[in-house]
Amino acid sequence: MSSPVWHPYAHLKTQTPAPRVVGGSGAHLELESGERLLDATCSWWCMIHGYGHPRLVAAIREQAGTLCHVMLGGLTHGPADQLARELVRITPDGLDHVFYSDSGSVGMEVAMKMALQYQVLTGYPSKRRMLSLMKAYHGDTTGCMAVCDPEEGMHSLFAGLLPSHHFAPAPTAPFDGSPAQVGADLDALRHVLERHHDEIAALLMEPLLQAAGGLNMTSPDYLRGARALCDEFGVLLVFDEVATGFGRTGKLFAADHAGVTPDIMVLSKGLTGGYLGHAATLATDRVHAAFIGDSAQHAFMHGPTFMGNPLACRVALESLRVFEEEDYLAKIATLNQTLRRELLDDRALNAHPAVADVRVLGATAVIETPTADALAGVASFARKHGVWLRPFGRWLYTMPAYITSPSEMTQITDVMKAWFSESRYR
Ligand SMILES: *Cc1c(COP(=O)(O)O)cnc(C)c1O
Repeated sequence: MSSPVWHPYAHLKTQTPAPRVVGGSGAHLELESGERLLDATCSWWCMIHGYGHPRLVAAIREQAGTLCHVMLGGLTHGPADQLARELVRITPDGLDHVFYSDSGSVGMEVAMKMALQYQVLTGYPSKRRMLSLMKAYHGDTTGCMAVCDPEEGMHSLFAGLLPSHHFAPAPTAPFDGSPAQVGADLDALRHVLERHHDEIAALLMEPLLQAAGGLNMTSPDYLRGARALCDEFGVLLVFDEVATGFGRTGKLFAADHAGVTPDIMVLSKGLTGGYLGHAATLATDRVHAAFIGDSAQHAFMHGPTFMGNPLACRVALESLRVFEEEDYLAKIATLNQTLRRELLDDRALNAHPAVADVRVLGATAVIETPTADALAGVASFARKHGVWLRPFGRWLYTMPAYITSPSEMTQITDVMKAWFSESRYR
């Protein structure tokens, strides 16, 4: 009998039955069939400690015995307060206020509402649109769909429903791009701001790594340049660090590569170590201060039922402790070395006719192919080799859990390379 579960992003006519997961430990998933699959993508990039981490599991159990949930409207509790303090401590200087919500998409909705209301409250009511980048992905809710890449961003069907925002070209300079390359990207951004700044509330970006839009990587200088442009044109800078946060790019936050503080920053995926859905939208004093006032317009009208959920906050605190005590940034550096050696430095792979580009940043690597056809069948190929790989579009990528050992990492890269060396393209 087929299951009533409706799977995401699936073509119902052609989808193959989803393997049933019965457990997981470390970087491995355990299937009902008895297979153990090494998860190359740590469940959409969030299970950064892997599965069944004893400290995270214990934190949830302990908190469940005390307080599972309470509304944050008019009430507070220890885990919400402590986590907010920790997030303020570890994020770039100046982000001092934390608004919780339940997912990355909602965290971005909160960021956009906050930016727009900030402009109204500070005397710029005509600044009502967002400026986003091509190749952006900021979530699947209606507000977020409108700031995803309007052409390739999988939501074009809904174009008529969505508010229209401004878009600048995606940055093209690589991570170590030259000043001239970055300068060209910033000129393109300036061009849009010059024409439309009087109606733009905020510039939104996934800093350094546009993830779901094709793992497009760029230079820290682009972030510094964007910060300066936002200041020049009275536009808030919003960093969507839902994917990049908590080490994915090699530093705790992508913003840390550039020494830039955005006005608003959104965290989710890795926030709870992936163990529960939650998000945090952080704001600077300047943004927060604009909301202090006497009119009805000064209240921020948003409040998801599960914001600040005690279980989520408690497990997020434990996740951060493990991250720091076990020096995860060093683990990420080791993963990065392996990814560079095995993929970037592999001549045969880079010369393969079905490989358009290979990119590595932190604990992220992608092999880009000219067309999606070149990746048809790769998931079942990888499964036969004991690896769970789930490419999208033209991108075969890995974003492993940080506890992935060097030999597990090479098992993943070996499978990625074998797909090309053993394929019909050979
Ligand atoms: C995943 C993601 C989101 C959406 O988060 P959800 O929790 O799936 O709603 C937003 N922005 C970025 C950059 C993401 O990678």
